[in-house]
Amino acid sequence: QNQEATGEQVDGNLLVAKALAKAGVECMFGVVGIPVTSVANCAVSLGIRFLAFHNEQSAGYAASAYGYLTGRPGVLLTVSGPGCVHGLAGLSNAAINTWPMIMISGSCDQKDFGRGDFQELDQIAAVKPFSKFSVKATSIDKIPNCVFEVLGHALLGRPGGCYLDLPSDVLHQTVSATEAEKLLVIAANYRNNEANGNVDSLKLEIEKAISALRQAERPLIVFGKGAAYAKSEDELKQLVESTGIPFLPTPMGKGLLPDNHELAATAARSLAIGRCDVALVVGARLNWLLHFGEPPKWSKDVKFILIDVSMEEIELRKPYLALIGDAKMVLSIINKEIKDDPFCLGKSHPWVAAISKKAKENVLRMEAQLAKDVVPFNFQTPLRIIRDAILGLGSPSPILVSEGANTMDVGRAVLLQMEPRTRLDAGTWGTMGVGLGYCIAAAVASPDRLVVAVEGDSGFGFSAMEVETLVRYQLPVVVIVFNNGGVYGGDRRSPEEITGPHKDDPAPTSFVPNAGYHILIEAFGGKGYLARDPNELKSALSESFSARKPAVINVIIDPFAGTESGRMQHKN
Ligand code: ADP
Repeated sequence: QNQEATGEQVDGNLLVAKALAKAGVECMFGVVGIPVTSVANCAVSLGIRFLAFHNEQSAGYAASAYGYLTGRPGVLLTVSGPGCVHGLAGLSNAAINTWPMIMISGSCDQKDFGRGDFQELDQIAAVKPFSKFSVKATSIDKIPNCVFEVLGHALLGRPGGCYLDLPSDVLHQTVSATEAEKLLVIAANYRNNEANGNVDSLKLEIEKAISALRQAERPLIVFGKGAAYAKSEDELKQLVESTGIPFLPTPMGKGLLPDNHELAATAARSLAIGRCDVALVVGARLNWLLHFGEPPKWSKDVKFILIDVSMEEIELRKPYLALIGDAKMVLSIINKEIKDDPFCLGKSHPWVAAISKKAKENVLRMEAQLAKDVVPFNFQTPLRIIRDAILGLGSPSPILVSEGANTMDVGRAVLLQMEPRTRLDAGTWGTMGVGLGYCIAAAVASPDRLVVAVEGDSGFGFSAMEVETLVRYQLPVVVIVFNNGGVYGGDRRSPEEITGPHKDDPAPTSFVPNAGYHILIEAFGGKGYLARDPNELKSALSESFSARKPAVINVIIDPFAGTESGRMQHKN
């Protein structure tokens, strides 16, 4: 049937949805309202899943994590003005963690901009610090191209956040169905094919890198969430196991190789980074998380070989050697070269033996602490119980979402990651409040896995209303709240600090003690559990893990367990 003859028209809302569908977008996160409700409805009608949140901040965190987990840009849809501003949380999170995501926001009518229109904001200016690329579709015919452009830029080179602005007048414009098809085909044919690294120029650098590793007395392989994003686990395993070089994952690199691998240096971290002479760092920045690669944590003579997709990163760090390109690609070339002239340190090599000895000692010491059942709960006892329950599930292992000060710090050492991309935490910015958004993204991105969040009551509180979202979509997410009644826990002020006209107010760090977080989810029909001792916790975990339904376990922690600011006390 000739659509033009029937006069069938496509409006901007439908054209946005058609472009997203044509580009392969399978799901979106967001909050609907003026002027984007119809965009969401059209997307759903075309088979795109729309996860509707209570707040753009959480939806944005979800979109960023979805980008990391799937390698396809997560899509956030927001309303204009305040919606866009709330969404900046997600966009900035994608930028700082180098995850691909796009934010699409409606904006006010172009002819009324500057006259105080409803939810008016110069959104292109607002997103600038947090987006690699941003574009406004100033007329309906530009929509398909803009959609493909933002999606392409989010993935290009170092991944990150991009922004698409959709003025309300453009969403209401129409084109004929035939014209819409034509625009979509042209846009889809536009592809940004910039290669991530040039293989030939890499060869020489790779030879130098292998020679440095071969000659090193104390080599170390460090990998981070860039290596995880690149899905380079098979190549890393081959490299580690063929060379016998010990490895150290960053927090979100954990799981690329199992945490209990015999070459894991995690439990001997200080020795490994303090003494290594050549460090091959794969998809991890030498930022605060890795002590800037500087003394006193690292030896001053250490030679860094960085594998990173970003030239900017290499220029910033000025390493001994740089291998610029996708981690999976670079590692596979390294493995091929090594195969021709293999070398392996072996278990009795003094460096390998020293790391292994230290790691075993530290693990034994920690296990002795963990073995005690401390009630009222400290952080260690419930974390041990949770670790054992998670390990008991086997493969596919759950995705662990972790945030909080002590909860995340202590949890990082206790909880084990056995499979790649199964840990999402506060990340490069140490962002609290990401938990529920990450849970929803993880459940959508990996439907075969259970999602388990282990988070402090403060982190949970940022987006606790999203437990309703969990229930609405019946996602297999168990949120375990470590409830110590505040940010860091109880009121730790000395009596001299508690003065002035508001001295009777609760401490800035406190929440209502023993809050009933488990009851919150029951308001929406989810399942809540209160866990005050090991038996209550074990039974809640066993029941909720096998139900695979939305649940909150409210674990009551001694308000004076743990420390203020976790391990970051020196900065507070
Ligand atoms: P972590 O927090 O685990 O230390 P970072 O976020 O600091 O990791 O570093 C991740 C690094 O990985 C970034 O510098 C980013 O440019 C890089 N990266 C992203 N994608 C790839 C890829 N496909 N291959 C190699 N490096 C990548």
